[in-house]
Order: sequence, then structure tokens, then C-alpha cells
Amino acid sequence: MKKKSFYQVTRDRYHKAAEIMDLKADVREILSEPKNVIRVHFPVRRDDGKLELFRGYRIQHNNILGPYKGGIRYHPQVSTDEVAALAAMMTFKCALVALPLGGAKGGVQVDPHSLSETEHMRLTRRFTHALGTNIGATYDIPAPDLGTNARTMNWMMDTYSNTVGFAGRELHYGVVTGKTISCGGSLGREKATGQGLVFLVEEWARLNKFDLADSTYILQGFGNVGSNAARLLNQSGARCIAIMDHRGAITNPKGLPVHDLIRYSNETKSIVGFDGSEPISKEDLWSIEADIAIPAAIENQIDEEVASRMRVKLVAEGANGPLTPEGNQVLVDRGVDILPDLLANAGGVIVSYFEWTQNKNNDRWDLEEVDAKLKKRILRSYQAARAAQARHKTNIRIACYIVACERLQAAYDDRGIFP
Ligand code: NAD
Repeated sequence: MKKKSFYQVTRDRYHKAAEIMDLKADVREILSEPKNVIRVHFPVRRDDGKLELFRGYRIQHNNILGPYKGGIRYHPQVSTDEVAALAAMMTFKCALVALPLGGAKGGVQVDPHSLSETEHMRLTRRFTHALGTNIGATYDIPAPDLGTNARTMNWMMDTYSNTVGFAGRELHYGVVTGKTISCGGSLGREKATGQGLVFLVEEWARLNKFDLADSTYILQGFGNVGSNAARLLNQSGARCIAIMDHRGAITNPKGLPVHDLIRYSNETKSIVGFDGSEPISKEDLWSIEADIAIPAAIENQIDEEVASRMRVKLVAEGANGPLTPEGNQVLVDRGVDILPDLLANAGGVIVSYFEWTQNKNNDRWDLEEVDAKLKKRILRSYQAARAAQARHKTNIRIACYIVACERLQAAYDDRGIFP
């Protein structure tokens, strides 16, 4: 049987939730397709002087709750299907965590590891220019994702300010979030996705009377989400016993020194070859017995075969869509708990919202304030999802979509459908 596309899988999850909570037919129809699909082609000069044409996307799924919001991804796999799936997930994620924001996603089809720093900058500036007024601080607000970072966001903000923003002579910090502090970023944004995930894992441990001290975990992806989650989870005494990135995988049953590994990976662009670790195959990582698995790389990583080999109690989804539907089913049947992506990686967009709010008000919050507000919002959302799970006798992933659909339905009910 042909495997379903990522977008189809996302739609299936949404439709299942819509069915269970009896989402009204009109709203169901509107949310089943993205509002705008923008595809651009733009040239970038490589360092060797050659000109290359790149393809970029911005897909705006829904904005009934507020301006479109979602990351920009640089990855060779970027396609209409992938970006549409991620854009729809952003609509439901923002609704789940009760943010006044809609859902969008963007990306460029490129291997980020093939770009020098200057090529990354030129590509970002041309992509931002190509998007033009399709983004804006009150319309659509991008953020970092796979293959992009705070500097990418600085260049987007700067390019936008010097092109679209130039005519109005206005400050345009709020056009993107996830910037560095010097360029209008928020304290706590860089670690926010990992921090949100760790707040949830701690809450899961509390609810299940599980002691995180001396527990073990395995990790896929050691970028923004993976490395921050590891750094923060280790503070509760948990040990990371194996990590995989795009180049390979390593293990140390006694625990990998995460801070040293972050330094090493920043220097060498990979975790492979780290002193004090044994190399293992990527496939073998998933068979290692541990308490928790954190997939924090890309989608469709844990299928039926991988799931049947896993020996963990909890899967906390740092990445978007890391489990295939079949992989998900195997884990559910085996009684493995799941903290689903919609909730588990929502810390990023929550603190992006805080950054946007600070930019709007020309304000600066301290780190304690950001962390406290993040914790409160993400744990409240976890509680809402668990309540919906109990109310509708479903799994927590579908329950997250149900909470989101209830909020979207309420907005359409109160506002009506134009005209
Ligand atoms: P990143 O580019 O900083 O890091 C990605 C990591 O994944 C790298 O270590 C890379 O080597 C690894 N990786 C890539 N392809 C791989 C493969 N095929 N096998 C194994 N490892 C691979 O990206 P990020 O920002 O940490 O994002 C990771 C995931 O988290 C994505 O799914 C993204 O959508 C999701 N996410 C990110 C944020 C955020 O704030 N950055 C927020 C929410 C969700």
C-alpha cells in the first residue's frame, strides 16, 4: 500500500479529531486546505561566482485567530506537501496553546550544510525579498526552524526593513521572531522549544510518579531543539546515553557530557567522532533501552519497524511529525506514553509570541518572566489536552487537535464567515 504523505497524515489526524468533537461542516471544510500557497524562485550567487536558482515556499494555512505564524526551514526535502502539513500543524498548535495567532510555514529547498555563512545570508536576503509583502508584523511572522537560526532571522528582519519597510519608515522588528537579543530578540527564545519540552517531561514524570533523577534518554537531532532539551533535561539528573544527527550516531551508557558535546558539535558541525563515545549505526540507536526517547530532527523517523524495536516508556516529540501513523500505533498498543508534537514543541511559538509582544510594545522582559509565563501556558495546555482525552476517550495526540478545533470553532461561531 502506498504510504500517505505527511500532509495527508496531518489531515487524517485533524479529521479524526473533527469527527470526535463534531466540528461543524463549514469550519471543517475551511480548515481542510491552506488559505494561501506561495511559491517563489530566486537566484543566489554562490561563493565560486556561479548563479543558482532556488525554490522557496510560504504556505499560510489559517488566520482566524490572528496573524499567520510559523517557521522557515532550509532542507533538501522541502516541498509543497511538507510545508502544507507543517503550516496546518501551526494553526492547531497556536490554537492549542491559546495564542492569538494563525498558522503558516515556509522553507527553501536547499541542503543547509552546503551553504557557507555568506551564501546563507545571500539566500536569506533574496528569499525575503521574493516573499515581499507576503510577510509582515501584523500579517505573517516567520521564525527559525530546521536549518535556520537566529542569524537567519536577523537577516530577514534587516532585509524586510530595508525593502518593504523602507517606504513607511517604521521599525520592523516584529516581522520575524527568534532573532538575537541585539536585533530585538527575546531572552529565553533560543532555548524555548527545548525548555517547553522539558517542562512537559517533568510534569509527565510528576503525574506518573516517575523519578527523573538517574533516568536515561536517547535523542535524535542535536540542533536547537535537541541540544537545548538535553542541556535542560540533564539538570534534573537524567542521562543522555545515545545521540544521532544527520551524519551518524554515538553512545555512552554512562552518559554523554552534553555541554562538551554542544561545544564539539558547534566546532565540527556534528556529534560524530566525539571523544568518550562509541560510534553506533543510526538504526541501532532506536533499539537502545532507555526511559525516554526524544526525536528532535525531522518527520517520519519512527515507523512500524523502528517502533517495534524501541524499549522506552515515553516518546517526547521535539520534532514535528517524527512518528508515522503505523509507528504511532505500535507504540500506543505497547503502552508507551507520547507527548505529541503539537504540545511538546509548542514552547518555541509561545516564546516567539512573547518576543513579538515585546517588539510591539518596545519592551524587554527578563528571563525569569519569560520562563514563568512559558511554563504556565504550556502546562495549562497539557492539562486541557488531558481533560479532552478523558472527556472523549481518545489518545493525547487527537485530544490536542480537539482542544484546538474547539477554539477555532468558537472563533468562527462568534465572528461568522465572510461575507
Ligand atoms: P536544527 O537545524 O537546529 O537541528 C536539526 C538537527 O537534526 C541537527 O542535529 C541535524 O543534524 C539533525 N538531523 C537532520 N536530519 C537528520 C536525519 N535525517 N537523521 C538524523 N538527524 C538529522 O533544527 P531544529 O530547529 O532543532 O528543529 C528540529 C525539529 O524541531 C524540526 O522538526 C522542527 O520543525 C522542530 N521544531 C523546531 C522549533 C524551533 O524553535 N527551532 C520549534 C518547534 C519545532
